[in-house]
Amino acid sequence: MTVEQTKDQVAGTAAGNGIGFDDVLAAHRRIEPLVVRTPASSYGELDALTGANVVVKHENLQHTSAFKVRGALNLHLSIPEGERARGVVAYSTGNHAQAQAYAARHTGTPATIVMPAGPPEPNPVKVRAVERLGASLVLAGESLAEAGAHAAELAAASGARLVEVANEPALVAGVGTAYLELLRQEPGLDAIVVPVGGGSGAVAACVVAAALAPHVRVYGVQSDAAPAAHDSWRAREIVRRPVGTRAEGLATGTGFEFTQAVLREHLTDFLLVSDDEIAAAQRHFLTAAHTVAEGAGAAALAAVVRHPAIFAGQRVAVVCSGGNASEAELRRALGA
Ligand SMILES: *Cc1c(COP(=O)(O)O)cnc(C)c1O
Repeated sequence: MTVEQTKDQVAGTAAGNGIGFDDVLAAHRRIEPLVVRTPASSYGELDALTGANVVVKHENLQHTSAFKVRGALNLHLSIPEGERARGVVAYSTGNHAQAQAYAARHTGTPATIVMPAGPPEPNPVKVRAVERLGASLVLAGESLAEAGAHAAELAAASGARLVEVANEPALVAGVGTAYLELLRQEPGLDAIVVPVGGGSGAVAACVVAAALAPHVRVYGVQSDAAPAAHDSWRAREIVRRPVGTRAEGLATGTGFEFTQAVLREHLTDFLLVSDDEIAAAQRHFLTAAHTVAEGAGAAALAAVVRHPAIFAGQRVAVVCSGGNASEAELRRALGA
């Protein structure tokens, strides 16, 4: 498949609002000097555990300890300089917030971040990081949706740019740079397993794999305690589901049309894991790879452990998407 075909196909499915491989290449040129080229590493113990040849893409070692900063930097650098002064407003359960605050600091853009006040209480690791990065933090609403409504009001009142969690092509293009790196680091992959919240990471993986390595299968993973994206993908229409997962990065209550449209066309399969399987995978990352994964960051490994029939004997990349685990979360994982 050529790059042009990929772009047309992906753009076509996303109602003219799509992203193509050339957008990822442009993002790569823009942000490459600003991001960590994260390692893609193998660990004998993870191979023994899964029966697969596992490659961990370490986005837990990215700035802000999560991949989202790639999208945030690309989006902020794409805002014309004159408009940056009006600022951005974003809402998030955590890593998107940190990424926006980080990119705002880098570009000198005033940033307001709305996090749901809970319950459950926001992850203190993520709250502290947002404050340290100098963004103004607002705690509002119980859910991500309520925080989003509040953020939209703030943006409307101030004229700031509202940054959505999923329907943002510039975020997806920036995130795609992680997959560009991965496929250059690991040309022999059979599959890539990506944790899914809003779906930007999985879309980015699909776009880059379709252009560079169309034989590579891309799998999405969610927690069965928050299966909205999974269920939307299976139903081929947007559905809402309750959010019960402890993994903040996966805690979305609805599918999003922009990402689902691409995933419907390009995703190989969508797998579910339990929160307990995620905690066990966090423990495996700690003990076998000596690396810290937050719940969402361990979901892909949990799926490979759970599905030997799909992955055994294959060379599989698991995206360790983030490392912002709270102390309570790490204690729970080590007790699992
Ligand atoms: C946001 C996030 C995800 C989910 O990514 P989407 O692009 O929203 O699907 C997974 N893992 C971590 C650590 C995250 O911060």
